[in-house]
Amino acid sequence: MKRNILKKLLGSSVLTAEQQAALSPGEVLELLKEGNKDFAEDHLTVRNNSQRVRDAAIGQYPIAVVLSCLDSRVPVEDIFHRGIGDIFVARVAGNIVNEDILGSLEYACKISGAKVIVVMGHEYCGAIQSAIDNVKLGNITALLAKIRPVVEVASVGFTGEKTSANPAFVERVCRHNVAYSIEHIRQRSPILREMEKAHQILIVGGIYDMKTGLVHFSTNFIVN
Ligand SMILES: [Zn+2]
Repeated sequence: MKRNILKKLLGSSVLTAEQQAALSPGEVLELLKEGNKDFAEDHLTVRNNSQRVRDAAIGQYPIAVVLSCLDSRVPVEDIFHRGIGDIFVARVAGNIVNEDILGSLEYACKISGAKVIVVMGHEYCGAIQSAIDNVKLGNITALLAKIRPVVEVASVGFTGEKTSANPAFVERVCRHNVAYSIEHIRQRSPILREMEKAHQILIVGGIYDMKTGLVHFSTNFIVN
């Protein structure tokens, strides 16, 4: 019942501190799943954005934070059917984790009360493909160096062609990369690790399916 009420509220008005506080991490994850279903089924509603802009100016109480790739085909708020003031989004090619991303996630959860961290990879990821190809170009080299260890790990036990032209290998590296980012968050952020242990937040992985618009979630991200 609470979810249904909140879903309606999320459709038309900006979240309040009370609404944020009333939700458990599990309920927030359910809301994200419901929003994603709306998106995939094209059941999006028109929201009063100019009113939301004015309402949100006095403060923000987002329910989740999504770490996503830069890819233009992955519009994060749309994918979860969320708008102004609903979710934090951190975007960087290949949804990698570094000190600045960790600081952003800590801010979202510890300071601003977000209840769920979603690390979201996606199909046909150019960053993953470039890391597999070991592309070297300007500052892209340093970025891809953060994904290269994942390519090495994902190669172990994979018998097919280990190139960016093989969709099965790209998908495998993508899934490993999400798991790797989640492990980095747990290992390198004592704040978030403690919040997860205390059940104050959930840290989940997801892969965005380009063909259906659905995000395949897992709280225990299992690598194929
Ligand atoms: Zn990508």
